[in-house]
Amino acid sequence: MSDTTFYQKYGKAFYAKRTKAGNCIMCLQPFVSTRINRRREPTKQCDTCAEKRRLKYQLVQRPKRLALKAEVIAAYGGQCVCCGESHPAFLALDHIEGKGREHRRAIGTDGSGFYTWVKANNFPDMLRILCHNCNMGRQLNGGTCPHQEASLAQ
Ligand SMILES: [Zn+2]
Ligand SMILES: [Zn+2]
Ligand SMILES: [Zn+2]
Repeated sequence: MSDTTFYQKYGKAFYAKRTKAGNCIMCLQPFVSTRINRRREPTKQCDTCAEKRRLKYQLVQRPKRLALKAEVIAAYGGQCVCCGESHPAFLALDHIEGKGREHRRAIGTDGSGFYTWVKANNFPDMLRILCHNCNMGRQLNGGTCPHQEASLAQ
C-alpha cells in the first residue's frame, strides 16, 4: 500500500472522528466555537486557524499588488534610469531629491500602499526608477552610482 492510499483511508477516518468530537478541522485541537460562519453555523475552526486562513486569503492580493507595481514602473519608463535594468524584481521607485523616508512617512504609507499613492497622484515627477543595484551603488559611493563615474571616465 502506498503512503497516499494509507493517508486517504486512515487520514479521512481520523479526520472525521476528530471533527465529530468538536475539534478544529484544521489543527484538530479541541476548541469552543465563538463565531458563526457565512452559512450561519458555528465555525469549525479555532480562532488561530481562522486567522491563518485569513492570512492565506490575503496572498490572493499579492498578484494584484504586483500588477500595480508593474503599472507604476511602466509609467516611469519601465527601466533603471542609470543602467537600463528592466526586470521588475530589481526595480524600485527612487525619490530624485532623496528624502524618500520622510515623504513616505508624510503620506502615511509604505510598500504597496506607496504605489497606490503614486498612481492616485498621477505619477509625480519627483520620482524615478532605479534598480536596487544602482540604488545601493549610489549610497555606498557618496551619492553617485559607480556606473556614472565609469561613463565619465571614458
Ligand atoms: Zn485550529
Ligand atoms: Zn541600475
Ligand atoms: Zn548605476
